[in-house]
Amino acid sequence: MKIAIVGCGATSISVVTQILAELSRAKFKHKALEILLFEKSEVGGLPYNDTSNAQLLNLPPSLMSVDAYNPKDFEEWLLEKNYTLDFVPRYLYGKYLKFRLAELIDQKLIPGVDIRLFTEEVKSINTSDKNRIFLVTAERAVNVHRCILAFGHSGPEPIPELEEVSGYFNDPWNIDWDKIPSDASVALAGSRLTALDVAKELISRGHVGEVVMYSRRGFLPSVRSKFSSPVALNYLRLDEIDFLGSKRLRLFDVLRLIYFELKSHGVNSLSCIKGYAPEYALEWIKKEINLADKVRIDQDIIGGIYRSSLIDYIWMKLPGEEKKLFLDRYLSGWMSIAHPIPLENAIFLRDALCQGQLKVRSGIKKILPINGGFSIQGKDVGISQIVINCKGVSKRLRHHRSSLVHQLLNSGQICEHEFGGMQIDPYSFHPIDRSGQLIRNFYAIGPMTCGVFFSVLAQVHNVRKSRQLAQRIVDEIKLESEKPLVGAL
Ligand SMILES: Cc1cc2nc3c(=O)[nH]c(=O)nc-3n(C[C@H](O)[C@H](O)[C@H](O)COP(=O)(O)OP(=O)(O)OC[C@H]3O[C@@H](n4cnc5c(N)ncnc54)[C@H](O)[C@@H]3O)c2cc1C
Repeated sequence: MKIAIVGCGATSISVVTQILAELSRAKFKHKALEILLFEKSEVGGLPYNDTSNAQLLNLPPSLMSVDAYNPKDFEEWLLEKNYTLDFVPRYLYGKYLKFRLAELIDQKLIPGVDIRLFTEEVKSINTSDKNRIFLVTAERAVNVHRCILAFGHSGPEPIPELEEVSGYFNDPWNIDWDKIPSDASVALAGSRLTALDVAKELISRGHVGEVVMYSRRGFLPSVRSKFSSPVALNYLRLDEIDFLGSKRLRLFDVLRLIYFELKSHGVNSLSCIKGYAPEYALEWIKKEINLADKVRIDQDIIGGIYRSSLIDYIWMKLPGEEKKLFLDRYLSGWMSIAHPIPLENAIFLRDALCQGQLKVRSGIKKILPINGGFSIQGKDVGISQIVINCKGVSKRLRHHRSSLVHQLLNSGQICEHEFGGMQIDPYSFHPIDRSGQLIRNFYAIGPMTCGVFFSVLAQVHNVRKSRQLAQRIVDEIKLESEKPLVGAL
């Protein structure tokens, strides 16, 4: 059997790890299995191939293992290589991913399984034959029995009116820093993790000009407590969601259960997910830094819900209008508390705010190009020479950098989900084509399944789903291995 995986970022390395783990647990005699990995750029994916020391992982190593059966795998690797267990730079995670993949390829851990990596872009896929999937790169055309799409993030959420304007940088993950004069005033469109990464990178490179983070609501991320630990959920349970969902699940019901969870631990309001307006950014970050020395029940509960599989179940049960309500009213606040930043980044933010080099402004309405720069319009008007788009990753397939995504969309083999990414069946991971049919032997996993699943952004989410997908594929391999060969006596 041949399985192709498109993309070789953190998700597909997790999928391969989990397929091997499931094969070895299932203990059956399978036919020869070839796993063909295709990567158009660098193994490990975009977030982890940066070389900067300033760009830190935003989750602790204990939540970054590629192996669902060994959540300590990344921690063990760091210790083995004599690194600390802090929030390490992201490129170290890239090294870990490359190391683990090389090990999987070289060690031939499971007899009869051969893993091969091709540094080639998959340009097109044809799924019209029921039994085979046909992939084309510039170097080869291959027929496989199964194909997994793990092509990762879309491109940045664009600001179309600024696209061709000089001084505007659309892609915050591919900036030619030499093109930004060190004394230029820089406006960052956004105030969350991407904006913080860019501000930190600029300032650590010696930028002396003013840097202002602008956003509509201006929510700043919370700061991760040093004592974060899982909390058992007593109210927000599967049976309760099933009961409420037997009629029609409302966002109000879910928020009420979250409120009860918080209340049972002495937090008497949902204000933590309503977000924060940043008039007093410096006071906010100072307060958050102080709280990092204490247990944060709000982070433990919201973060715990965000990392659990229950959140995807709730998301699937919520009707469209209720989902929309959550996205409009609560998403920014939710992400701010569910994805807290490392203390080191918060200290950077506090110091840059104290020194007056960095500012945070909310109420941004639009950015207009003017002679020699930009006018940032909102509650107040700001002027800057440079604008960097820090709105984060787009949820839309049409903004994806890979031409393959456009080929699949245009040919109707995949289609956009109304809440972002592509339509897939959440249980089988099969994409749904333009005519509403599941495409068997074809699967999709990772950030571009963000409309169907709520939690696809962090590695811990994708590892959980990698295990589900691997179990499914190994069950299918098992069934096929047991089938007698057609024509056999
Ligand atoms: C800046 C940033 C920082 C992040 N930091 C963290 C963090 O600290 N912790 C965390 O848990 N999560 C973090 N994330 C979330 C991140 O989404 C996941 O951790 C993970 O990287 C997702 O992996 P992926 O393999 O699905 O996607 P990607 O990392 O995007 O990898 C997909 C790969 O597919 C390749 N590809 C695409 N199209 C083709 C094609 N046609 N042919 C061949 N190859 C193709 C791409 O080149 C890419 O290498 C971060 C995300 C970003 C954007």
